[in-house]
Amino acid sequence: MQYYSTRNKNEKAGFAIAALTGLAPDGGLFVPGEIPQYPAHVRSSLGAMDFCDIAFETIKPFVQGEIPDSALDDIIRSAFTFTAPLVPVADRFAVELFHGPTAAFKDFGARFMARAFSYLRRGEERPLRILVATSGDTGGAVADGFFGVEGISVTVLYPKGRVTPLQERQIAGLGKNISAIAVEGSFDDCQRLVKAALADNDLKKRMTLSSANSINISRLIPQMVYYSAAAGRAFAGRVDMDGEATPRVKGVAPSAAAKSGLPVTLCVPSGNFGNLTAGLYAMKMGAPVTRFIAATNINKTVPDYLDSGEYLARVSQATISNAMDVGAPSNYERMAAHFSWEEMRRIILGVSVSDEETRETIVRVHKDADYFIDPHSAVGWKGVDKLRAENKIENGAVGILCTAHPAKFSEVVRPLAGEPPVPSSLALAMERTVNAATIPAEVSAFIETLNTYN
Ligand SMILES: *Cc1c(COP(=O)(O)O)cnc(C)c1O
Repeated sequence: MQYYSTRNKNEKAGFAIAALTGLAPDGGLFVPGEIPQYPAHVRSSLGAMDFCDIAFETIKPFVQGEIPDSALDDIIRSAFTFTAPLVPVADRFAVELFHGPTAAFKDFGARFMARAFSYLRRGEERPLRILVATSGDTGGAVADGFFGVEGISVTVLYPKGRVTPLQERQIAGLGKNISAIAVEGSFDDCQRLVKAALADNDLKKRMTLSSANSINISRLIPQMVYYSAAAGRAFAGRVDMDGEATPRVKGVAPSAAAKSGLPVTLCVPSGNFGNLTAGLYAMKMGAPVTRFIAATNINKTVPDYLDSGEYLARVSQATISNAMDVGAPSNYERMAAHFSWEEMRRIILGVSVSDEETRETIVRVHKDADYFIDPHSAVGWKGVDKLRAENKIENGAVGILCTAHPAKFSEVVRPLAGEPPVPSSLALAMERTVNAATIPAEVSAFIETLNTYN
């Protein structure tokens, strides 16, 4: 598979280069030269296949020629030790993406990426430093994914005071090959610093750098897997009431999700739009998704673009769904490389949800369906309610991608719905001690700090 830069079709690279460098040399994002199709027998059995088998069929064409099948299979089986259960809740289903070690969907991408990097760099002498900007969840997932991986260190930048205590411990509590920097600014500032450092030629002479944001294609590719798995099962009318699906739902009829062959609508709570981009790729491969909903908080750059055809990036505003506080979503550039505005409008419905509506939804879903929902997933839930009220959603199965475990955002959830059950991985993380440097939101300060590491 060849990848090319969103800014120049002639700027090409294979999977290894695209993954390890993160950003194309011209500052663009790598996108796949073509989206492969699932073979017919895979496409027709997505609803019944094992998660790791779907992962293998999905990822294989994207790494062909660079990761042999047996190594890919090892990477997948060690990365995806958890799945994404489909849980019926009231009149829709939850796609629970939070059963990984940091309790958010980013574990899928980060764990695959860490293992792929480790394989691609086998035999390398020079250590690699990965730079990650995070609005909260990416940092923890990447730090956890790479923790203890030999020859690779990770530096996480996060907006000081804008992540939860748990997120801060997941980011800045591991130590060893993981270092953390609290930036006095916003997530957009963190992202700007990372982009500047990755483009700094002096720095690049001194150290081998890469990124691990959703701008890295190797994080996006594994995220296709749960779309294909969820859409396949929803289309086949299958849901998971047992296994690892938590929190449990009591006595709720799996109405919408229990019939087969109906249109499948998936609602994606979005910030930087990496997750939705992966969904679009999965759909292009042949996953039976009829429509996507891009649900944002008040940082509604993309819903506004879908409305008006005019893309206006802006400064991000803080909300209670802070992993989606992105005013200039990087992956818009990828979406625009594959789809025109008209095409996007046919596939994606945009909707934006306020903090007030998000809180009201957390209360209501808990009361009506006995289900704890985190603020990000609540944005998706409410987004579906709003679009349904406008008759914009087809009948059929409607799934909300639940991007984080409610206990991860218990500061918000607890006063509204009571204490959600805490997974053991989160309980352990809370016991760590934060160890982070603090810097102003300036490129020079960041580079100075980086230089102290070597
Ligand atoms: C990162 C994140 C999002 C947003 O995902 P994007 O790929 O940036 O659109 C939503 N919810 C949670 C919990 C997240 O961590």
